[in-house]
Amino acid sequence: MDERIVQVEDLSKTYMQGKIPVTAVHDVTFTISQGELVAIMGPSGSGKSTLMALVGCLEKPTSGKVVIRGLDITAIPDRELPGIRRRMIGFVFQHYNLLPALSALGNVELAMRFSGMTKKERLKRAEDLLQRLGLEKRLHHRPNELSGGEQQRVAIARAIANGPSIILADEPTGEVDSSTRDKIITIFEELRLQGQTIIIVTHDPEVAKHCDRVIRIMDGTLSHEERRDDQQYATR
Ligand code: ADP
Ligand code: MG
Repeated sequence: MDERIVQVEDLSKTYMQGKIPVTAVHDVTFTISQGELVAIMGPSGSGKSTLMALVGCLEKPTSGKVVIRGLDITAIPDRELPGIRRRMIGFVFQHYNLLPALSALGNVELAMRFSGMTKKERLKRAEDLLQRLGLEKRLHHRPNELSGGEQQRVAIARAIANGPSIILADEPTGEVDSSTRDKIITIFEELRLQGQTIIIVTHDPEVAKHCDRVIRIMDGTLSHEERRDDQQYATR
């Protein structure tokens, strides 16, 4: 399996903080293959979330490009981005970002509202996904009635609902205890076995240990990558 799902080329992002330009991501290049589970690690403020926002086309780069499944998403007109994002990318965030007024089922169903499925089909699929993640007894609970780990599993169900090319998870285990973290890692590993490509930003070496590869970022720049077999090599 070496189909290249994500190609990031010479990617840079500079924000203006008042009058001061801050380069959050600087000249980053890497490739991710189908079915890879990749960790992105680096100190706080090193540009990890910005990199995820660029890969997930939530932000436009200052220069460089992101190609997903051969499609240059950085060249796509703004009005087409939400549709591309919905079809190709599943997001999982540290704070879950579920809609508080909706049940677990409702949160997952809503993610599919533009999918062309009927409401009945969407509810069926949402139920199946939640069941797969061990939440069959929590379908009708709202986020504030769920534990952190349960909310994160709802968020993962929502992220995979539209069969995305890639899942981007920004510190998904940042707020959960270690046994919940282990469950979440297991879920990501199972998804990977099914061919899902996943990028996880994490500070946790336990999470990184389960990944095929670690991409390290420092002051917005890649420092080096590690393979599981411990081969280290310069990225440029
Ligand atoms: P990390 O996720 O690794 O902690 P971030 O990508 O959030 O790092 O931030 C990298 C740098 O970019 C920081 O210096 C941060 O202050 C800056 N930054 C991030 N987002 C913005 C923004 N929307 N406006 C201005 N500066 C930003
Ligand atoms: Mg961050």
